[in-house]
Formats: sequence, C-alpha cells, structure tokens
Amino acid sequence: MDVNTCLQRTESREAPKPHDSLWFFDGSVVLATDTLLFKVHKGFLSLKSSVFKDMFELPSPDGSALGEVGAVIMPELYEGTPMVTLVGDKGTDVEQLLLAVYEKRYINRDRNDLSLEAFAALLRLSTKYDFKDIRRELITLAGRHYPMFQSSYEFTSSLHCKLGVGQMFSQRRDSIVLLQAMFESNVDYLLPILYYSCCSFSMETILAEAHSIRAECLHNLLIGREKLQSRLKMYITKLPDILHACTGSTGCTSPDGKKCPHVGRFANLCDLLDTTDLYSIAGARTIYKKLLVHPPGICKGCRSLLMRTIESERQKIWEEIPSMFGYPGWRDLRAKMDAAVL
Ligand SMILES: [Zn+2]
Repeated sequence: MDVNTCLQRTESREAPKPHDSLWFFDGSVVLATDTLLFKVHKGFLSLKSSVFKDMFELPSPDGSALGEVGAVIMPELYEGTPMVTLVGDKGTDVEQLLLAVYEKRYINRDRNDLSLEAFAALLRLSTKYDFKDIRRELITLAGRHYPMFQSSYEFTSSLHCKLGVGQMFSQRRDSIVLLQAMFESNVDYLLPILYYSCCSFSMETILAEAHSIRAECLHNLLIGREKLQSRLKMYITKLPDILHACTGSTGCTSPDGKKCPHVGRFANLCDLLDTTDLYSIAGARTIYKKLLVHPPGICKGCRSLLMRTIESERQKIWEEIPSMFGYPGWRDLRAKMDAAVL
C-alpha cells in the first residue's frame, strides 16, 4: 500500500467538521453527517419539516430517539448542544438542504444554475424529511424544463440544445439522473415525460447508466421505449401511402391536377426507422425538407395537406405516450402536477 493510499484512507476517516456558515451561535441542535456538522435551530426545522418536528418531539424512553427515516438522536452532546446523526446522508447533500431551508431564494422556480447533483440531492432529502415547500419548488422547476404539452416540450428541447453546457438540465442525458431522482421521490406524474425524454438515448447509453436506475424504473423505460419505437416505425412505413392520399386531391393546384401524385415520393425513410423522437418526424422540419423528393415540387395545396396530416398524426402519437409507460393521459398527469405544486 503506498503512502498516498494511506493518506486518503486516513482523510476519509477524519471526524466531521463544523460547517463554515451553517453553524449558528444560537443553534439548538447539531446535525452530524459523515463529513460535516451543522449547528441549526430545532424550532425552525420543526416549522419546515414534519419529520424533524416528530424527531425532536418524541424521544424514546431510554433517552434516545429513532426517527422513521433512520436519523438517530443519541443522548450525546457536541460542546454542550444535543447532537443528531443523520444516518446515510452525505454532508454535502445536507448542506444543500439546509441552504435551501435558511436562504429564502436558494430554491425558486426560476433558478437555472443549480447543478443536477444538487437538484437530485435536494429532491431526495426534501422528500425524506418532508420539507414540503422545497419539494414543491423543485418539482415546479423540473416541470418547467419538461413540460407536458407537445409544442412546449419540443420548443424546450430545442432550446436546451442551443443553450449548451452550464444551464440547468442542458444535457438531455441529465434526464436519466432526473428520472431516477423523480422515481425514488415518488413524483409519479413527471415520470412519463422523463421516460419519453430518456427514450431518445441509444440502448448503449441507457445500459451504461443502468447501474444507477432502479430495476422497476429501467424495466418501464425499456418496455415503453420499445412500444414507442414500434409505434413510430409503423407510422413511418405508412408515409408513402399518406403522401399518395394527400396529393392530387380536391385542394391540388397543380396545372393538370395529376402531376403531384406522380412527382412526390419519399427517399431514405429507412433512416428514420429506429427513431424514438417524435420531433424527428415533424412535418416541415424533416419530412418535407429532407425526405420528400419533389422535383419540380408538389403544389402548395398538396404540401399543406401533407403537413397537416403529419402533424395530426404526431399529435395522436404524443397523446399515446403516457399509456406506453402504463400511465393515464397527459391531462390527468398535468392535473395531478398542478394539484401537487399549488
Ligand atoms: Zn398538388
């Protein structure tokens, strides 16, 4: 064993140290974690969290108290102040939670620079200790990045691509971490949109992250992804028939009225067969510009009918997405979310 390894092990066993700022001279309890100690106020935590309230109010007969979430109140003092050990919580995660508790604007629905790790830790701990206000703000914040309306979702997704690194949830890969965090914290109504977002990852990417996803969550994701892929494949193979049905009809403005059905045809549809992203079959964006071979072009009337038909089918598939993951429709999910964040 080399010297550096010994040093690292020694450091990891060091006693937790008082936090620089979350150490109030008039604090009434010390919260102990693996690396940090926080001297905070029982009354203030009790006001914000029902779990802390119960923990502080219900000591067991032997002088210690065991909270339901695993926090142990030992008859132990730290420099004369009662100490509570938060079992299983990382010091840096509890730091985030307490910053959110004490700094009024630390979490708000407009905040855009919170790291994904901090968000996930806050959601987990605010759920575990029942900090309702913080949890509500976090869910609202996530909901803004993952709207359940198709046009808003697709707009937000394209915005994420443009914003790049540094903005909250700017990487769609973040969806996997967020999905797991929401799953663990029972935020059911946001799961379908997150499942859908994760479907755009390759199987290789999903499996590389599988170790961090609970088995049930991974199962739902993979089954739903297969259903979505199969539904989109079915639709894409029908596109030539849809094109045929949309050209040369009563709205056709081609001079001889028969030209459009003969000149319009698709090329390279096979490129889309593995897609799991509805945006990739957006009418004007992909179908018309990239796949429709149209020298000298189908007429305006036929084009317009084709685009409308494609958009209508896209909307229909969007509405089916929650059911692919075993959930009710978007309307129900939105209503549940609205009720939860009121
Ligand atoms: Zn036409």
